[in-house]
Amino acid sequence: MNERIHLSRAHVTDIEEKYVLEALRSGWVAPLGPMVDRFEREVAQRCGVSGALALASGTAALHLALLELGAGPGTVVVLPSMTFAASANAVAYTGAEPVFVDSAEDANVDIDLLVETVEVLLSEGLTVAAVMTVDLFGRCCDYTALGRRLDDLGVPLVEDAAEALGATHGGRSAGSFGRAAALSFNGNKIMTTSGGGMLLSDDLALLDRARYLSTQARQPAAWYEHTEVGYNYRMSNVLAALGVGQLERLDSMISRRREIRRRYTAGFADIRGLTFLGRGPGDGAAESEDNHWLTCISLDPDQLDIDPATLMSGLDAAGIEARHLWKPMHLQPVHEGRRAVLTGVSERLFATGVTLPSGSELNDEQIDRVIAETRRVLRAS
Ligand SMILES: *Cc1c(COP(=O)(O)O)cnc(C)c1O
Repeated sequence: MNERIHLSRAHVTDIEEKYVLEALRSGWVAPLGPMVDRFEREVAQRCGVSGALALASGTAALHLALLELGAGPGTVVVLPSMTFAASANAVAYTGAEPVFVDSAEDANVDIDLLVETVEVLLSEGLTVAAVMTVDLFGRCCDYTALGRRLDDLGVPLVEDAAEALGATHGGRSAGSFGRAAALSFNGNKIMTTSGGGMLLSDDLALLDRARYLSTQARQPAAWYEHTEVGYNYRMSNVLAALGVGQLERLDSMISRRREIRRRYTAGFADIRGLTFLGRGPGDGAAESEDNHWLTCISLDPDQLDIDPATLMSGLDAAGIEARHLWKPMHLQPVHEGRRAVLTGVSERLFATGVTLPSGSELNDEQIDRVIAETRRVLRAS
């Protein structure tokens, strides 16, 4: 039996080992330390923002960003329905009411619908504390179409770039589009600190306040003095060392994932009804450059008589992990009854989409096995 092929596993080498060992041996094991500062500096530079705050998770970064922008009881936050639960959870933590908006064909939020929704909510007299965009599966939203439309409405943007570190749009990096942005270094993301996240912003005052909230809101006094409720959200020095090593290898991990996407594209080129979500590699001067975090395919039910669940169980039996796309938030029991502005696109993408093993540690032989097994299940070989 071959080794099981996973969707997206942590990919670490002796470079990371060296940095982690260095952090351990330096004595900076207790939470904060020089590796945290270095990791923040290097990620901020990579993303083209003025500052960064290393945190325990991407969810924590979203939570603090929303708090800083005034999300709370009596306000609403507009965000895509198709996303990972964490985006909506962060809104719920603040006490704000999430309003969900449907997807465009590439799964990212439908920008026109998003802006229209904000206009409608404002015209109803509601306080829209923020809009959150999510750069899904490693691809930036259409920030060209968004332009300054939210600024004109006076509503700040939070960018959930948890899946998109290394992607760009119009020459700008994912993580640089909002008043604040969140990255995730969870184990399955394009790079990892085993668990962790980062808040990015050009607004250093916002980052300072978030830093204070993330360390139990401790006042500058000789004793432990607190005037508000804080959080224990910081990243540890040992994990930041892992991040410094991963960041050094980020470009090589992105190019490996790009090669994997190419291999899938070539391997399925002749299958009618099988399409790739977003744009493929080599589409030329695309204004968006994907980080190729996960390769997602869509199975057209008019042309293929196999649905995602059947494909996934066939692959599972062959020792291959594949998954559904994110189940839209408006279909989640926890958000039942919440407001959602729908076109049917995210439901269709959820019903037809499959994410395939895309981890940078996978070799060509493993990808070829996924291609062969997929073709077998689809009866296309
Ligand atoms: C992974 C992810 C998060 C949360 O990140 P954690 O580090 O796991 O808390 C948030 N939003 C999206 C879209 C994600 O994929």
